[in-house]
Amino acid sequence: MQKRFKRILLKIGGESLIGDREYGIDPKAVLSLAEKIKGIYAKEVEIAIVIGGGNIFRGLAASKNGIDRATADYMGMLATVMNGLALQDALDKVGVPVRVQSALQMPAVAESFIRNKAIRHMQKGRVIILTAGTGMPYVTTDSGASLHALELHCDVLMKATKVDGIYDSNPTNNPSAKRYKTMSFKDAIEMDEIQIMDTSALAMCKENNMPIMVFNLFDDGQLERAIDGEDIGTYMASDTKTVLA
Ligand code: UDP
Repeated sequence: MQKRFKRILLKIGGESLIGDREYGIDPKAVLSLAEKIKGIYAKEVEIAIVIGGGNIFRGLAASKNGIDRATADYMGMLATVMNGLALQDALDKVGVPVRVQSALQMPAVAESFIRNKAIRHMQKGRVIILTAGTGMPYVTTDSGASLHALELHCDVLMKATKVDGIYDSNPTNNPSAKRYKTMSFKDAIEMDEIQIMDTSALAMCKENNMPIMVFNLFDDGQLERAIDGEDIGTYMASDTKTVLA
């Protein structure tokens, strides 16, 4: 089978690190995530990862409880750095070369984000973990993912979720829900109820022709199959129409 993607931006939400806990980081879950990344690394794919922080702190939720929104968002960005360091540790343990960069400067724990350096790391066979999102409040790591995917010239933004793609209704409580094989950006933006990614991040991908693949990270092997171009998940690109599988 033809390999479809050579350089990917993998957006992983903080929930992927939570394991069986209600909050924080479960080292077992992080190790299992690292093994999955190793699986695609072995296929000689260049990998940039944008990691979220929702398992620890979300700015919007905290601002509703009284913390200034911008301050809360900076706290959320710090949470993504913690997740990035945990993932770096796990990738190290499974033998995958890795570097962490941060959009907020903190040289003691991570390189500062420098675009050319990030590209160089990938070309040298290192996975790069991009933390602190955009470095700016009022957005989320989805915006960080779309910006980084564009500036690093990735072939696709792979958005990891808990279900294998976008469905016409919620597959967890409707067994006859159908998966969309492809979707147009326009529909993805207009279908508020499906909430794939932040609208601003989707719009950025739409305007700049960055394809998005929504897939299930928790289903073993799905990430590898998505890289190989198999018909899984939901694919969005500038020329795709909304079609059920
Ligand atoms: N955040 C931010 N700017 C960014 C990226 C993240 O302010 O560019 C903050 C925001 O408060 C967000 C939190 O960091 O809620 C954690 O990121 P996110 O919610 O995207 O994590 P995920 O849902 O992917 O786990």
